[in-house]
Amino acid sequence: MSSIYIHIPFCKQACYYCDFHFSTSLKRKPELVDALCKELVLRKKEVIGDVETIYFGGGTPSLLSKEELQKIFQSIRENYAVSPEAEITLEANPDDLSEGKITSFYASGVNRLSIGVQSFFEEDLIWMNRSHTLLQADTAIKVAKQYFDNLSIDLIYGVPGMSDEKWLMNLNKALKYDIPHLSTYALTVEPRTALAKMIRQGKKEHVDDEKASRQYAMLVETLTATGYINYEFSNFGRAGYFSRNNTAYWFGKPYVGIGPSAHGFDGTHRYWNVRHNLKYIQAINRGNLSSERETLTPKDRYNEYIMTRLRTIWGVSRSEIKQKFGDFYVDFFEQEARALFAKGLLVQEGDTVRIATSSKFLGDGISAELFFLGTGKG
Ligand code: SF4
Repeated sequence: MSSIYIHIPFCKQACYYCDFHFSTSLKRKPELVDALCKELVLRKKEVIGDVETIYFGGGTPSLLSKEELQKIFQSIRENYAVSPEAEITLEANPDDLSEGKITSFYASGVNRLSIGVQSFFEEDLIWMNRSHTLLQADTAIKVAKQYFDNLSIDLIYGVPGMSDEKWLMNLNKALKYDIPHLSTYALTVEPRTALAKMIRQGKKEHVDDEKASRQYAMLVETLTATGYINYEFSNFGRAGYFSRNNTAYWFGKPYVGIGPSAHGFDGTHRYWNVRHNLKYIQAINRGNLSSERETLTPKDRYNEYIMTRLRTIWGVSRSEIKQKFGDFYVDFFEQEARALFAKGLLVQEGDTVRIATSSKFLGDGISAELFFLGTGKG
């Protein structure tokens, strides 16, 4: 199976915390859509087998017009074998989701909508510099539910000014809407963002890691008590509604990434496209792929396997480590994991090893303890 990721690098305004690649000037949107279609042609030989998931991410894919989206779909269908059961996700911002836009997404073949709600409190949306209002979020969810059964919303926790009570109210509101999937993120301060600058200048409060950890625990407790499965650190879904696209990434399946800043992976090599709209368009128009490429060593692939899979309910297994990476890595894993089992940070069920539920928030640090950083086996 394969996946296609398409990056739409435009946003109406810049959220203060955002470190993704996007431009707030939409003037190159038509040219960029043409370039995406050309890159789809250039990369068609990189996909083996049927495409099982397509993901429009960004940026803000809901800024695409009906015609632009149709053009991209036409290019996909002309150049790739798309499974009739493919999961096709589009990320959308509430302020774009008029009923006309929602029906046009649905009619074009999108079958999963992921809405960037972030908070059900107006003051948080203003604090983050989101382009939408609370009323737009409420309306978008109500209308989207009429057309899309497979619906997800994003929420952010650990925001200064968002008390534990407000976070719980956010979760309860999401529960009231009975949305089958939630993606949740701790607010992080990336160095190159407006938020980092504002914090340095004393214009915004520092992010409180302890509060984020506490609100994550509230999140896990509240959602799992109501039937959601925390199938990956940040993701909660009802049975049958896990993101097939993201699950494919976590299982190391190949994917092509299309658009500026998009990444792709073929099982051994990773590439990443230039993070600049004009340079991307110019390269593609010359018939060139604007990407850099690296070959992942067995050491890179082992470390990545540990990192991504320990974030999921599927965990890691000794038999899989042996089969994918060989005896050296099984022995290394056994040796490093011993201390983590002793501290209760890892748990075991048969052959499978997972992060203990109470230690999930520390998961990335725990995974790092299991990384192979030596030489000679990579
Ligand atoms: S809408 Fe999304 S991609 Fe655009 S600035 Fe906000 S967080 Fe970043």
